[in-house]
Amino acid sequence: MSLSCPRCRTLNPDVAHYCRQCGLRLEVAGGAVAGAGRIRHPNPLVSAEATAAVAGAAHLHYGRQPVGGGTPLLGTEPLELTVFNGGYDLANVVLRVRGDGEAGRSLFALMREIETLARGQAVSFEIPSYELPGPLHALHVELVSAEFGAQD
Ligand SMILES: [Zn+2]
Repeated sequence: MSLSCPRCRTLNPDVAHYCRQCGLRLEVAGGAVAGAGRIRHPNPLVSAEATAAVAGAAHLHYGRQPVGGGTPLLGTEPLELTVFNGGYDLANVVLRVRGDGEAGRSLFALMREIETLARGQAVSFEIPSYELPGPLHALHVELVSAEFGAQD
């Protein structure tokens, strides 16, 4: 296993703490070395809309709104999830989305893949109402895996 530097693309051993070519720090909090989506960008972008942090990601954030706008009445309306990338360009981003109902009861768990999610880009997808058999109380979005995007 080797780790491609998000800044200069040099392949580094996956135990490297710094890129051997450009010196970028390849560590995340806790001293663990991590791959795409988990390396902190020195100058992260902030999204106006998306608010909550995607778990396991350095600079991915998400926001949610009812599809078609308006105020949710039942909690089972289809949702639009928008994911914003404030870090390095990413590709093949795999997210796990889980929804909890009353008393932490699981309503759904699904995976979504985003082909390209460049720095500063936001991508939206829908969670249909048939995934919501009851009122949604909590939403969890977690980064499963990602690759570094193409460099221009
Ligand atoms: Zn580098």
